[in-house]
Amino acid sequence: MLTIGLTGGIGSGKTAASDLFSKLGVPIIDADIIGHQTTQVGHTAYHRIRSQWSDCFTSSGKIDRSALRRKVFSNPEELAKLEDILHPAIQAEIEEQKKQLSKEKHDYCLIVIPLLLEKQWQHLVDKIIVVDIPEALQIDRTVQRDKIDSAEVESILSRQATREERLRAADFIIDNSGEIEELVARVSEVDALIRSERRLG
Ligand code: ATP
Repeated sequence: MLTIGLTGGIGSGKTAASDLFSKLGVPIIDADIIGHQTTQVGHTAYHRIRSQWSDCFTSSGKIDRSALRRKVFSNPEELAKLEDILHPAIQAEIEEQKKQLSKEKHDYCLIVIPLLLEKQWQHLVDKIIVVDIPEALQIDRTVQRDKIDSAEVESILSRQATREERLRAADFIIDNSGEIEELVARVSEVDALIRSERRLG
């Protein structure tokens, strides 16, 4: 089974694209969902976070995400500490899900990792799909979807890999600047390419 990473900047259409791959029968591993799960009560990462930042918890014992974000994002050392807790936990769970899927008959699985390049997680995947749109469209679509102002989106964009960096790392590019129908067609095309590579390989 090949492992294909799918990445792209904020609002580029990763969810839209991965939903389409899923409709084609491709199993999806979602790093964001896993990240969320690893911070739920009971998980080892939860307890490690609790012992480090005990003031960032709600009265019911859940992590107060905005408080934790405020604390670590302005302090690189704290952020590194948090990432040292979260990243190994997320990667271990990704590996576990891959292992389970490899027992089934799939040509490939897709791992959606928004910050694949920023975190340098290329070793987790065999090939990379980049969902690509121009920055102006990323801003427009994210503003519309999240009802936030464009300055906020621009600030997130400035902390992500550049469009050029992503395109350089891509084995497959999905241009999502057109209509949804074009995305549907391109996803089918890339799916067929990956399956034929798998069979040839
Ligand atoms: P994030 O990184 O913020 O999670 P994402 O990369 O998963 O975003 P989506 O949520 O899939 O991006 O898409 C961003 C927005 O753009 C959504 O509201 C989605 O419905 C819309 N969208 C995606 N593709 C298209 C398209 N081809 N045409 C019009 N709208 C689109």
